Amino acid sequence: MSIANQIVVAKFGGTSVADYLAMSRCADIVLANQHTRVVVVSASSGVTNLLVELTQATLEEDRRKQVIKEIASIQYRILDDLGRPEAVAAKIDSVLSQIDNLSEQLILNRSKQIMDELLAQGEQCSSALFAAVLREKGESASAFDVRQVLRTDSHFGKAEPQIETIAHLVEGQLQPLLASQRIVTQGFIGADEHGTTTTLGRGGSDYSAALLAEALKADAVEIWTDVAGIYTTDPRLAPNARPIAEISFNEAAEMATFGAKVLHPATILPAVRQKIQVFVGSSKEPERGGTWIRHQVSNEPVYRAVAVRRDQTLLNLHSLQMLHAQGFLAETFSTLAKHKISVDLITTSEVNVSLTLDKTGSDSAGNGLLSESLLQELSQHCRVRVEDDLALVAIVGNKIASTAGVCRRVFEVLEPHNVRMICQGASPHNLCVLVAESEAAQVVQALHQNLFEG
Ligand code: ADP
Ligand code: ASP
Ligand code: MG
Repeated sequence: MSIANQIVVAKFGGTSVADYLAMSRCADIVLANQHTRVVVVSASSGVTNLLVELTQATLEEDRRKQVIKEIASIQYRILDDLGRPEAVAAKIDSVLSQIDNLSEQLILNRSKQIMDELLAQGEQCSSALFAAVLREKGESASAFDVRQVLRTDSHFGKAEPQIETIAHLVEGQLQPLLASQRIVTQGFIGADEHGTTTTLGRGGSDYSAALLAEALKADAVEIWTDVAGIYTTDPRLAPNARPIAEISFNEAAEMATFGAKVLHPATILPAVRQKIQVFVGSSKEPERGGTWIRHQVSNEPVYRAVAVRRDQTLLNLHSLQMLHAQGFLAETFSTLAKHKISVDLITTSEVNVSLTLDKTGSDSAGNGLLSESLLQELSQHCRVRVEDDLALVAIVGNKIASTAGVCRRVFEVLEPHNVRMICQGASPHNLCVLVAESEAAQVVQALHQNLFEG
């Protein structure tokens, strides 16, 4: 592809589009690169959480009205700062009345389909407002309804994108628009084959940007957020965390999977399929640079970063039938699969299996995973113990399983802590320990200090 046809997809997260000033800074980032033809936005900061609150069964009527007022005030503030352009004001008013209608409908019919329609409204507002900010700066730009092209299955709350159909729809309906204008579209949402709105799961806008970049065969995806790149650990947890200039797809995917919220775990998949490089940077301080995620990097250190994934559940299954027997694990996993539970880590002994549940695939509305019926079914062939309030801390890097001394360094740090489970060896890129949620921050800080601040 010639330079003239290069395409960059830029995604701006919730804090980057929180208010008019933040949007205006992001618009300047877009305008600084003529190749940035597609802009993907999240809902303004706080809006999706408020929409999730509207989906809760226990919501009282007074609070429902209050939540809608809070959403309206976030959106109207931006609209006012823009000088209330008529068409955009009409769009925001219609989205707000849609939020009111849908949240009322949910009182009578708690359908996941209506929940997704409701959750999608935050991105409807932010995309209309962001396009208006670009136009205010003299640019030709329109909001585009991503549901025309981002086809998914009908798994509401955690829809699976249909890659080939998306490529086909993007080619026919989005690509032709890009020559004459910039397009601003919604992250996080899609539509099934009937045109019904779906969502990709919380934090899914990064994934949307990567999916559109894949379909457009873009040259780069930029993830603009509130930190200047991917750090050696969450900078909110460890003030000495350092930004990483360049990181491989493998390492970034591991970090995202193990809880580094800066990237949605699925973001890397489309980028890997098309070998599209991904940039992560701060929309507030773009001049600080950021992290490039690439297929090949010049330096692959043993220790790259420490990540933490909270809210972990450990399932311990005990059965004497397991001793010298066949089929116990197969039966357990088929029960879990039937209940659509994906298993994350696993350790076994003669008569016990411990496993953690993969919650990254949980629904947008944040529904729990362990149902009564699943526990009952498992109890028919083993004793089940469930432990909550755990956190998984992962050391991410390279050749971890084949480097001498890694365990000694890690266990030195873990000495004062009770480690519920350890997983090492299956992947060359990580070593994970499960600890009490209340100790997670301390464990991360101590590991970071030992591995990165020496
Ligand atoms: P956005 O709304 O832009 O999508 P998120 O809140 O989803 O932003 O992700 C950015 C946040 O990710 C940061 O504020 C930071 O606290 C957190 N984070 C966790 N781990 C890391 C890490 N290793 N590097 C950078 N940020 C991280
Ligand atoms: N607005 C959605 C959320 O808050 C998607 C995103 O921000 O990526 O989860
Ligand atoms: Mg995010």
